Amino acid sequence: MPRVKKQAKNETKKRRKKLIPVQIVKGMKDILPPEQIIWNYILEKSSKLCGEFGFGKIETPILEHTELFHRGVGQITDLVEKEMFSFETQGGDMVSLRPEGTAGIVRAYIENGMSKWSQPIKLYYEGPMFRYEKPQTGRYRQHHQFGFEIFGDECPAIDAQVIYLAWKIFQKIGIKSTTVQINSIGCSECRPAYKKLLTDYYEMKINKLCIDCKRRLTDNPLRLLDCKEEKCMQVASSAPQIIDHLCDSCHDHFKNVLEFLDELEISYVLNSNLVRGLDYYTKTVFEVWEDGSEGAQSSLGGGGRYDDLVNILGGEDVPAIGFSFGIERVVARLLQSGFHLDQKIKKDIFLVQLGNMARKKILRLFDNLIDNNVSAGESLGRGSIKSQLRMANKFNSKLALIIGQKEALDDTVIIRDMESGMQEVVMMDKVVMEVKRRLKK
Ligand code: AMP
Repeated sequence: MPRVKKQAKNETKKRRKKLIPVQIVKGMKDILPPEQIIWNYILEKSSKLCGEFGFGKIETPILEHTELFHRGVGQITDLVEKEMFSFETQGGDMVSLRPEGTAGIVRAYIENGMSKWSQPIKLYYEGPMFRYEKPQTGRYRQHHQFGFEIFGDECPAIDAQVIYLAWKIFQKIGIKSTTVQINSIGCSECRPAYKKLLTDYYEMKINKLCIDCKRRLTDNPLRLLDCKEEKCMQVASSAPQIIDHLCDSCHDHFKNVLEFLDELEISYVLNSNLVRGLDYYTKTVFEVWEDGSEGAQSSLGGGGRYDDLVNILGGEDVPAIGFSFGIERVVARLLQSGFHLDQKIKKDIFLVQLGNMARKKILRLFDNLIDNNVSAGESLGRGSIKSQLRMANKFNSKLALIIGQKEALDDTVIIRDMESGMQEVVMMDKVVMEVKRRLKK
């Protein structure tokens, strides 16, 4: 092929390549304005309730040292082993996008000397989490969680309060039929003996296990209990239960938690296979499930006690407990059930213009109105007055302020009552005052 022709062909190829639209990264999701309404609703209800229970908001960075998750969450957990987004910075630090919220908050608790503050410390948070999982419905690589943590109190009543708050948040949001699944996974005193017992049991059944569970048997035997493979679930159903092997202290703690829950009339199910995936949990672990659903995605959120974590990450011996839920999952659940928010956006007044001179006046008037706390809608791009008045109706505006060419020249504004259609001309410098007077009526 002649050189000139080849060059031209390459150019065309390059141009075509440029035209391919850039797509969203796999497993990520845009959250568009209509969905934001429901997000805000969930966040408002949850934050308000946390405020009423005495929690303060905390924000920690999305990026943390990878080491934090290795030491905190545990190296032999799916989350750390397979699901982290980790990379080296230009300065040579190994960092990770947080896969969960608790480890970062514990780091912040230690680093900001919160153990010297008056205990208990109650913190809530919300934000994105990153997990390199296989994307599917309800499972994303970037998802968002709302969660809360209490530091500095080991009383079982605190476990019950955290569970109650978790349950109450879903009630307030409108997810009424939930059940708390609860278990105790003991402490560093009683868990090792139970793990040994469990390993002995599973070793006898090794041929009946999936590949992952065969590997977990040596690394993290507790995880075998919550494997979702049918054949592993069958083996798990006859496995020794940790509840029968708790030390006295863990046993009493759990008994008390359940008694407090009875008092609060929270419906719970003892689930001896609930272990949660992460290493840091001790004693109480729980999840809130929606009634009538089973399997991994029926869990709206989960949490538990982590009495050793502050210490493991270099702080003092401070007991702690927390809970978090996935916002996407709650949004999907609400949308599925036909949940309806009044999505009609209301504007007190609507600004209507005709021509460029009028547009300039509208820009200034708009600014003046919002400074005076009057919500205003406008449609600067639209031409006809008729179509702009239609928008005023859509926004449920009580008044329309119309500036045509004549009004722009006279420095006047037409105030139109949208219900009666009555119109009155007022001077521009009086219009805000007149609008406020009419809106007050
Ligand atoms: P976990 O820390 O794994 O218990 O997660 C807490 C909650 O976050 C779960 O109950 C889910 O509601 C939600 N969640 C966890 N992983 C994902 C994910 N990949 N995509 C969407 N939501 C998730």
